[in-house]
Amino acid sequence: MIRKQYCDIFISGGGLAGLITAISVADKFSKIICCDSSLDFDLDSSDLPPDKRVTALFNSSLDYLANLIPLETLLSNCGKRLSEIQIVEAGENCKLIQTTSFKSHSMGREQFGWLIPNENLRKVLIAEVLQNPRITTLPKNGVEKVITRTKEAHVFLSNGDRVISRLLIGADGMNSRVRATLGINTNRINLPQSGITFNVRHQLPISHKSIEIYKSGGPFTIIPLPGENEYSSNIIWMDSDRNIDIYSHMDSDRFTLEVMKRSLGMVGDIEIVSPLSKWSGTYQMANKLSHERAVLIAEAAHNLPPIGAQGLNLTINDIKMLNGYLAKSEDPGDCKVLNGYCSTRYLPTLLKFVGTNFLNVMSFSNILPFKLIRKGGTKVFANNRQLQSMLIKFGLGEGLFDLKPFHGKNKVFNDRLRG
Ligand SMILES: Cc1cc2nc3c(=O)[nH]c(=O)nc-3n(C[C@H](O)[C@H](O)[C@H](O)COP(=O)(O)OP(=O)(O)OC[C@H]3O[C@@H](n4cnc5c(N)ncnc54)[C@H](O)[C@@H]3O)c2cc1C
Repeated sequence: MIRKQYCDIFISGGGLAGLITAISVADKFSKIICCDSSLDFDLDSSDLPPDKRVTALFNSSLDYLANLIPLETLLSNCGKRLSEIQIVEAGENCKLIQTTSFKSHSMGREQFGWLIPNENLRKVLIAEVLQNPRITTLPKNGVEKVITRTKEAHVFLSNGDRVISRLLIGADGMNSRVRATLGINTNRINLPQSGITFNVRHQLPISHKSIEIYKSGGPFTIIPLPGENEYSSNIIWMDSDRNIDIYSHMDSDRFTLEVMKRSLGMVGDIEIVSPLSKWSGTYQMANKLSHERAVLIAEAAHNLPPIGAQGLNLTINDIKMLNGYLAKSEDPGDCKVLNGYCSTRYLPTLLKFVGTNFLNVMSFSNILPFKLIRKGGTKVFANNRQLQSMLIKFGLGEGLFDLKPFHGKNKVFNDRLRG
């Protein structure tokens, strides 16, 4: 029998974005439904996809999360401070040309952010969602079709049920069904670049530093793994499609040698300890972020390659902004909420989209002016505190379009986080 349910806010997608949104909006609205086409929202389930990635969350994102989850426990159990970013320029023959270090202390910050394993963050979010009586989860049940009316969105689910909601939030990833069924187009740039990520153990300690090694083809980033020791890291390696294809088909000994060569020996001998996961260098941004009774957030709205740790931090800013408008309205799908969110969120997102694309093209370019900017650029930034601070603010999503500081229930912890 087909069931019909009503709610204030319906969230399509139970990834990190959907889960954070559900907890955020449940503060004000009493009936939230969150569905996911493949997840079963069960903490013990083997259906949780193995996600060995580590996400760098910046201070402003952590301030926000501190009000939603027991963040202090999460950070002390499995987080790692990120207090230094080392930028290395490599020559074509994989020789070190120049190194520039940005230290958080010299910029008056205790850290730039924290590194958290995706799996641990997801588990804490799911636990919080499951214990919240205002949130209903619909496991393994996806959005098939949406019809919007002036007062509500009608959401048709894959199991045949229908939900009528005052607001629909599309957080269903880069191939968002919500976006497609609402007829929202995207701008898409397919770069001839892809990436691989994997975990390694290495000979030299890395401490609280991430190392980004730039060379034509793309950046090679070494990110310390939290919770283990000084000798384990996650690698994100971006290069041309052709090279990534070659690397991912190499036998493990040859691949290890290539990794050693590309890392310039910065962390000594390397042992690969996880399978590789691969993705394509696609930039995608929705043409608009809202529709009658619906909004798009996270990868449904914008998708960037994982350079500069932007994705989830940008998403948390979407949620923060949306929640700010929801706090002022009794009707979550009111056009003031929809227009306010779309108009204030679109430009900063577009800027990040263009800025990250430019930095990425610069980082993998063989074109001489870009190469010169890349080589000269880090030196200029290293010697100029004001430029340094601007660059760091852009990277950390601060400054250009300052969001109002969020001081909620955990003000003391927020202040402590800022150092
Ligand atoms: C290698 C790598 C490293 C990264 N590092 C960082 C970092 O350091 N810092 C950072 O901020 N970001 C980082 N990111 C980006 C970040 O991981 C992503 O932005 C974030 O995980 C995406 O979350 P999401 O919830 O939008 O999408 P997803 O995780 O893709 O979730 C979407 C969910 O929607 C569900 N779904 C799909 N279709 C439907 C449907 N029809 N109905 C219902 N549900 C549906 C899917 O099952 C899925 O669970 C990285 C990304 C990569 C690839």
